[in-house]
Amino acid sequence: MLDVKNLKKHYIMKGAAPVEALRGINLTIGDTGMVFILGKSGSGKSTLLHILGGLDTPTEGEIILEGKSTKDFTPRDWDDYRNRYVGFVFQEYNLLAEFSVKENIGLALQLQGEKPTPSRIAEALARVELEGLESRNPTQLSGGQKQRVAIARALIKKPKIIFADEPTGALDNATGNAILSLLKELSLEQLVIVVSHDREFAETYGDRVIEIADGLIVADRMIAHS
Ligand code: ADP
Ligand code: MG
Repeated sequence: MLDVKNLKKHYIMKGAAPVEALRGINLTIGDTGMVFILGKSGSGKSTLLHILGGLDTPTEGEIILEGKSTKDFTPRDWDDYRNRYVGFVFQEYNLLAEFSVKENIGLALQLQGEKPTPSRIAEALARVELEGLESRNPTQLSGGQKQRVAIARALIKKPKIIFADEPTGALDNATGNAILSLLKELSLEQLVIVVSHDREFAETYGDRVIEIADGLIVADRMIAHS
């Protein structure tokens, strides 16, 4: 579903040498499964995820999505891709503190021009095992619950790909495992791409682990789970 060709990203800053965050990434990823992008801090993981998710543009190279090159994407195509095709989950949840759980989740649907009905929100909350928490405020939730709301917000769009950038980075180990189990379950039906620096998590939950160092892929393995 996703073909990445010679992707490069150079950050240019005034008065400093350019940072070559990605130096030529080539990759093919299928329709389902849990794919980890594993690497140390600063290796280029978030840069890659943001470009794959349409949040940033590459300096060079292209992504082929279902046969269409991002080189031919119009601004409208990019909006459609971000709003309908992909869902994001971040380390720091990125929930809006002044809105309720149901409003946070509903906003994702409104962005794609759809009406967030109570039943659709209830259904999304049920999938992350947070039935009945519609009216809570994010400040009244634990870290793990906030991340589940963030996942429900991604899910309600019925995205083909869920991108998660260090989704367990702010959680304790047990809660982190619960979040990864949930993402793993979802990956049976859709592609889930998780960025992490945690090798143990990657090898426990990943169907495939792509290691990145200094802006390049240095290993790419399928993981056999017994
Ligand atoms: P990771 O997510 O693996 O920690 P990043 O993709 O965030 O790595 O960063 C890769 C490299 O690019 C690092 O050297 C980082 O400092 C640099 N970088 C990331 N974002 C920016 C930016 N907006 N401007 C300049 N440099 C950046
Ligand atoms: Mg990062």
